[in-house]
Amino acid sequence: MKEIAVTGGKGGTGKSTVAIMFAFKQIELGKKVLLVDCDVECPNDHILLGINELKNPVSKTTTFYPVIDDDKCTKCGLCVRSCRSSALFQPGDSVPVLNKDLCSSCGVCWNVCPSNAISKEEVVNGEIFRNDILDGLTLVTGRSIPGVRETSPVVEQVRDYIDGLKSSFDLVVIDTAAGAHCTVMRALEDVEKAYSVTEPTPLGAHDLSVILRVLKVLKVPSDIVLNRSDIGNKALIDEVARKHGSNVCCEIPYDDDLARFYSEGNFLEHRLSISKLLKLYKSQ
Ligand code: SF4
Ligand code: SF4
Repeated sequence: MKEIAVTGGKGGTGKSTVAIMFAFKQIELGKKVLLVDCDVECPNDHILLGINELKNPVSKTTTFYPVIDDDKCTKCGLCVRSCRSSALFQPGDSVPVLNKDLCSSCGVCWNVCPSNAISKEEVVNGEIFRNDILDGLTLVTGRSIPGVRETSPVVEQVRDYIDGLKSSFDLVVIDTAAGAHCTVMRALEDVEKAYSVTEPTPLGAHDLSVILRVLKVLKVPSDIVLNRSDIGNKALIDEVARKHGSNVCCEIPYDDDLARFYSEGNFLEHRLSISKLLKLYKSQ
């Protein structure tokens, strides 16, 4: 398997922790791993790997907004009617006006305009960083500019960037954002398998159910990783797994040492201890 994702509907279940532990395990097996942090609004894998401030930017990510030429526009209103985000409005009989906050940069308006009156303005919306963490582990991080509403283009461009790197690695591990929105769906597209991280709580079960439905739509096979498996009610998760034809492939019990490594933010320093812990987990 070349490309997998670690995801999960609910935030705070330990997705990044699991993604990094999975990467450590693969390195131990002699594989070269490309870890990709696609939680672009709040990337944090680097912090768990001992990098406080992201370094080594490799490129900016950009998006496009429509710019209407008043002289060419015939005020036909087609762009306004075609915009599914309601980002264009036409006060009375005037030239349409853009609300950038609602624009998803989908490009429909400049493609439908019969008068060629709409050009594209390129705007920087984020950045991509590459850090070689240790022999066999490289971290690529996408980060959107705070306040950018539509962040899925940042994820798309991170994915384009890693396309040029994949051949140098045995395995790509995509760490997605929490939730089931467009940004997460972009990160999950084309992965061969997803691991949905959850916890045995009613909230965990609910959000797991949502992400499993999304994965079904995307036709991505998925297993479940149950974190803090010995706290709460595991039957809730078993029921969701059964309902969606999924399977709990790994159970991670609460562990004081792991919690301490997490709170200190130094997984890298404790890599060997973490590897020892991994051997204790029930997994299939
Ligand atoms: S790019 Fe798409 S979302 Fe933005 S204004 Fe045009 S049609 Fe609407
Ligand atoms: S589709 Fe083109 S010509 Fe028609 S209102 Fe929009 S910008 Fe103007």
